[in-house]
Amino acid sequence: MAELRRTLDIVAPFFNEAPSASAFARLLGELEAAVAQRYGMTVHKILVDDGSHDDGAGRFSQALTGSWEIVRLSRNFGKEVAVLAGLDQSRADMVLIMDADLQHSLDISLKLIAELVDHPDIDVVYAQNDRREASWRRSQLARLFYSLINSSQRFDIPENAGDFRVMRGAVARALTSLRDKRRFNKGLFAWAGFRQKALPYSPEGRASGTSKWSRLNLIAFSLEGFTSFSVIPLRLISLSGLLAALAGAIYGAKVFFEVIFYGIAVPGYPSLLVAVVLLGGLNLTLLGLIGEYVWVTLSESKDRPVYLVRDVVRSDVSAERPDPGAPDR
Ligand code: UDP
Ligand code: MG
Repeated sequence: MAELRRTLDIVAPFFNEAPSASAFARLLGELEAAVAQRYGMTVHKILVDDGSHDDGAGRFSQALTGSWEIVRLSRNFGKEVAVLAGLDQSRADMVLIMDADLQHSLDISLKLIAELVDHPDIDVVYAQNDRREASWRRSQLARLFYSLINSSQRFDIPENAGDFRVMRGAVARALTSLRDKRRFNKGLFAWAGFRQKALPYSPEGRASGTSKWSRLNLIAFSLEGFTSFSVIPLRLISLSGLLAALAGAIYGAKVFFEVIFYGIAVPGYPSLLVAVVLLGGLNLTLLGLIGEYVWVTLSESKDRPVYLVRDVVRSDVSAERPDPGAPDR
């Protein structure tokens, strides 16, 4: 087993996190010292600058100690892609993914690593947000999202589990072989399988700045989750079409019956208008939804790389690391 725990890569994407750079670099230093002392592991830090507009990369390169590299992407690609860019550079026996905004604490990171070290039969330990801070409405919405998305597949996407996780090198390599361009990491982690274990935690408050997730962003992201991982919305479309047709048939039969047997005149305009507007609206909405899937198909079928690298800044120590070779895009 000693072989398994020799090296640890820490992957952390950041976007405009200059204010917390020195504190995060310090946290990484402490994490490195603790891991070296407890398990005799060598640590390498892989930070990914996801097209920041501030001088985060400069601050990090001054504050980081030991062996590190900063992969600077050519623009902002989003956190999901930035995580992949980091994983592409990883070569260690274990890989820890964490946020650079200090919401993922030293304490929990060490617990994650300890779980993986202590359980040779486990491949991934992920932190599961207990969402104590979330509103009731928000957690109900999250629950609905997961139950819908999980209702049609052979793998379950665990609730409230994000990128904060530690995995064996083999898992990290497996993940880099999934080259989805529109990435939904939660789904990809679950799709990949392996033996995974949850560790409940409460994230720290943000040290500075605000979360990059607006309400609109979250809705778009959920839609991404569906279009990448679930056929359920399409099935719901078929079902609603069927129900509408059935309702129409029943209503038609009622009208027919009334005219034939009771001679009641059919009230024309209102029912016609209701049917036209209702079905027209439904049609447009559902067409839009199908369009989402078509758009995903289109963007995946263009053979563009998932991201582009502007340059990589390295510490002197990390220059000795072997070249990982070009990632298999
Ligand atoms: N992040 C990134 N690219 C983005 C948005 C965010 O690399 O386009 C980084 C961000 O700097 C942070 C992590 O991803 O280190 C998590 O982002 P955020 O705090 O906005 O998300 P939350 O914690 O609210 O899930
Ligand atoms: Mg955050």
